[in-house]
Amino acid sequence: MALNLVMLGAPGAGKGTQSDRFARLHGIPKISTGDMLREAVKAGTEIGRYAKAIMDRGELVSDDMIIGVVRERLDRSDVGGGFILDGFPRTVAQARALDGLMEGRGPLIVVDVAVPESELIRRLTTRLVCEDCGTNADTPEGPGAAAERCRKCSGVLRQRSDDNEAAIRERLRVYRRDTQPLVDYYRTRPTFRWVNGAQSPDRVAADLAAAVSAGSGQGARR
Ligand code: AMP
Repeated sequence: MALNLVMLGAPGAGKGTQSDRFARLHGIPKISTGDMLREAVKAGTEIGRYAKAIMDRGELVSDDMIIGVVRERLDRSDVGGGFILDGFPRTVAQARALDGLMEGRGPLIVVDVAVPESELIRRLTTRLVCEDCGTNADTPEGPGAAAERCRKCSGVLRQRSDDNEAAIRERLRVYRRDTQPLVDYYRTRPTFRWVNGAQSPDRVAADLAAAVSAGSGQGARR
């Protein structure tokens, strides 16, 4: 059966890192709306030109636009064996649209990755990402650290343009206002799971694997 997974969680919760690992392990595509928008910005497309300033302020792009992007992406043939959505849905309207898009595709497993806000801020203010492939890197420490390259593609590591203090504050505010209500939207479903994201990436990955394999069972939650 197709493994259709949604990763919920605040900015900095580790959704991207965990989605990458999970997608690689299971041979399913990771669909990150943030990555797709950053690619559009880089390519200078119409969507990219529209999204750039909104993303830099830490706000959300419009539901209609991002739902259209995801609808098109889920029409591609590589999602037949399942997919992992990272950063979508982020509003109740997006979650409703996703339910519509899921018709005839098998169950949707939803995992909320929970991390305390103080830890989110610490991670977001210190994280670096590869400017070529977008992979997250731990902040290099010590002398000569600035010369460190992406472990995946050797690209240059940089701070994301929305990982500054003002944008982080706004993203966390928008998360609490628009995205956290999704936990209530999904939590009564038997396929909803929760994992503690305030652990090492290996521990989170193990808990995520356990949560997903239990995801068609009977609703063990926080
Ligand atoms: P992310 O990489 O998931 O943190 O996303 C970066 C930025 O892209 C967000 O702060 C939003 O501006 C925008 N974005 C990504 N996904 C969505 C979405 N599902 N709905 C609205 N805006 C989004």
